[in-house]
Amino acid sequence: MRYSPEIIEEVRSRSDIVDVVGQYVHLQKKGANYFGLCPFHNEKSGSFSVSQSKQMYHCFGCGAGGDVISFLQKYDNLTFMEALKQLADRAGVKLPEEDDSPQARAMRDKRQVLLDINKDAANYYFRNLMSQAGQKGLAYFRERQLTDETIKHFGLGYSKVSPDDLVRYLRSKGYADTQIIDAGLAAFDERMGTHDKFWNRVMFPILDAQSKVIGFGGRVMGDGKPKYMNSPETMVFDKSRNLFGLNYAKSSRAGYMIICEGYMDVIAMHQAGFDMAVASLGTAFTQGQAMIMKRYTDTVILSYDSDEAGTKAALRGIGILREAGLKGKVLDLRPYKDPDEFIKNLGRDAFEERIKNAENTFFFEVRVLQNSYDMSDPVSKTEFHRSLARKLCEFQEPLERENYIEAVAARYNIARDDLKTMVASVAAEGAVTKAYQRPKSTTTQKKTPEDASRKNQRLLLTWLADEPQIFPKVAKWVTPEDFSDDLYRSVATELFAGMENGSFSPAHVLSRFTDEEELRQIAEMFNTNLTQIETPEQRRKAFHDIIYGVRQSGYERLKKELRPDDPEYLIKTIQGKKELEKLIHADINPDD
Ligand SMILES: [Zn+2]
Repeated sequence: MRYSPEIIEEVRSRSDIVDVVGQYVHLQKKGANYFGLCPFHNEKSGSFSVSQSKQMYHCFGCGAGGDVISFLQKYDNLTFMEALKQLADRAGVKLPEEDDSPQARAMRDKRQVLLDINKDAANYYFRNLMSQAGQKGLAYFRERQLTDETIKHFGLGYSKVSPDDLVRYLRSKGYADTQIIDAGLAAFDERMGTHDKFWNRVMFPILDAQSKVIGFGGRVMGDGKPKYMNSPETMVFDKSRNLFGLNYAKSSRAGYMIICEGYMDVIAMHQAGFDMAVASLGTAFTQGQAMIMKRYTDTVILSYDSDEAGTKAALRGIGILREAGLKGKVLDLRPYKDPDEFIKNLGRDAFEERIKNAENTFFFEVRVLQNSYDMSDPVSKTEFHRSLARKLCEFQEPLERENYIEAVAARYNIARDDLKTMVASVAAEGAVTKAYQRPKSTTTQKKTPEDASRKNQRLLLTWLADEPQIFPKVAKWVTPEDFSDDLYRSVATELFAGMENGSFSPAHVLSRFTDEEELRQIAEMFNTNLTQIETPEQRRKAFHDIIYGVRQSGYERLKKELRPDDPEYLIKTIQGKKELEKLIHADINPDD
């Protein structure tokens, strides 16, 4: 069900954003705002800002932003309703009872419907597995030595050999075909109509950190293709920000996590007591997944297959861990292929021993590097030493570099001083790669004229929110119609209306919006940096330029929207142009 804007606004106004965000991020007051390390990207200096007066957060590094509700949604992967409920409980606001009539259900948050469908499907697949129809699936799990307890713990299931078994079941629960398709569990084509995505597969439900089913992996029984298949990405299933097994691993007491390749690896490890194991979801390990792991641990052990592809994946994983600021190690499972096989053959104690001896990522990289050189050939050997020296240069910290030189020299039987000299000469050649430095923000893109005009609009909105007293001067020249795109225009309309009757607050503008991406953009609009304004003269010039810039985008928009054959076209464009010219020479001062 949907709550009224008044209720949402009440919850929001009683949940101070600094208090709520402060529970997750260490914040420090600097000037008017609070700053901390962004929980959504890896950084060493805090570019994550929280404004108490605006009740918004905004990250100058990665662009994340929004209000207190969208923060909680993003941080804990919650639906809007779940975040609202959590905040209401915290603030002691009683929400009206939820209505479970079909009409109310149809109105409910779309995300919530997709979560409900996934949950119902998981229960259904589990019941299938335990029924006559699921014998094949159960036999498969038994052969893989899974206990009944493990099957239940992971809610494993089976999808029958039938094109629309699940679809029919979900329809009987009242879901529409479009909803089932949106949940990623069915597809539609002319020949088959709406049909199941998964059939004749053992099913692995994928749960998020809050233990909600968000998707599935399925392994085919027999020789069908593809062998493994996953739910497509949906509104609730973002593969790059979730990990299989995280719902359990996050509460592990191990102090580290193990990331491996497959569902069966994770399940076998958990069954053997290694409850810190997770897997990426049929895709390569991502930066987003590393950032999620960082909430729970500072050390990640990579456990990829002992083959060439696995080695490549490990090298890639090392880079991702490093960028995320996590300590990494690499597990060596030779002669076995993966954790599942290893544990079956050598048992849990041997596996534990391997974890203890997991290799430092640097030495792993060096070992892989060495494989491409012929160490019996003196020329090739010297080249290997030179590449070693280059790798050692990547350590920016002198002490750390020194320690590694020491260790490498001992391990590879190189005279320490020779290696030091070589490192120094490589460094002097400027061959230092930046692998160990903080990566640049990914949001730095090429600036287009479009961006420049939006920037002026953002600057004006930020300025107005910070200093409402300048409103009369702005309103003399600018109207909400001058804002170029729809979202900016609706925000400006709310803001101008609020300023006119003296009831403006940025938080009030926010209460009109619930979409996460819109909230992020609005937070950006109200948190644009006004740089290089120190003197009154600079202030006056900036004010003039911004007003002019916004008016200009209004003029451009007018030209674009009026058709040349419109009788008003000429009159309006000429008038617009005249006003712009007048504005160039106008003396507008924000402070007089
Ligand atoms: Zn950020």
